[in-house]
Amino acid sequence: AKSRGRGNFQFFSRDMNAATHERLLLESRLWQALEQREFELYLQPQIDLPSGAVIGAEALLRWHHPELGTVGPDRFIPIAEESGLILPLGEWVLQRAIGLLGHWQTVGLGHLRLAVNLSARQCQGHGLLAQLDGMLADAGVDPALLELEITESAAMQDPERSRALLQALRARGIRVAIDDFGTGYSSLSYLKLFELDRIKIDRGFVKDIESDPNDAAIVSATISLAHALGLEVIAEGVETMAQADFLRAHDCDEAQGYLFARPMPPGQFERDTCATLDG
Ligand code: C2E
Ligand code: CA
Ligand code: CA
Ligand code: CA
Repeated sequence: AKSRGRGNFQFFSRDMNAATHERLLLESRLWQALEQREFELYLQPQIDLPSGAVIGAEALLRWHHPELGTVGPDRFIPIAEESGLILPLGEWVLQRAIGLLGHWQTVGLGHLRLAVNLSARQCQGHGLLAQLDGMLADAGVDPALLELEITESAAMQDPERSRALLQALRARGIRVAIDDFGTGYSSLSYLKLFELDRIKIDRGFVKDIESDPNDAAIVSATISLAHALGLEVIAEGVETMAQADFLRAHDCDEAQGYLFARPMPPGQFERDTCATLDG
């Protein structure tokens, strides 16, 4: 038993070393990545369910490293959060997103909204509102075209502070959405605490909507709850026609997912959306 225990320990520690090694490697390269302009925002269309029209997009961060290839945000956002890089990186994301909104006004796409993910640290810091004011004014962009997505767990780290932040955002006309709705551990009381524009139903509930009656019940109840509170609802991770049909039948306002389109480079998003508008 003793030798087996030691074997396990060695296995575990070798495993940890590999994880720690990757972490350190990614962390050191992340700081260079910002200077080397290796980040890009991909855009995934958001669809109005009744009409099928594209009403906007969610901005999703991508990191193209010359040797590591494309690294997904699930691998580097947690590292950026812990190391503090998320603050300059998050600022770059906002700058790029608001720049895109400004550009869209000049190419006939001025009606499209853009949703941007906010990290917990960005919500807790002091600079966010001033940053947003400056960027929106410089780009001449209507704040109502920008939506910020905040997860329940990020917002609940400091509820009082988040409440004030969300209120200040909405006072400027910036839209606020709760991301990954239903996956956190807090009660629904925050729906009363926070001023919101919409709720984003997590992919985890949408996935088995056709086969799992519990998921179907949760989704339809969430849509009713949101509407009763005067909020819009969008579902994420929609992959099949049957899922879209279910959501449409239950009055979900909007949807996003591989059924409609994968996240894509901004140029492609603009071409595709212009093509739809032309006919
Ligand atoms: P999220 O905000 O929940 O974003 C949705 C994720 O689901 C994205 O993964 C998207 O590509 C993926 N997705 C979209 N449609 C489908 C579908 O139909 N099926 C499946 N299986 N997946 C779908 P992605 O791009 O890898 O992003 C992962 C997470 O990284 C995001 O989850 C978000 O939490 C974080 N993230 C991405 N960009 C940013 C950013 O700019 N700032 C911050 N703070 N976090 C970001
Ligand atoms: Ca999101
Ligand atoms: Ca989400
Ligand atoms: Ca999610």
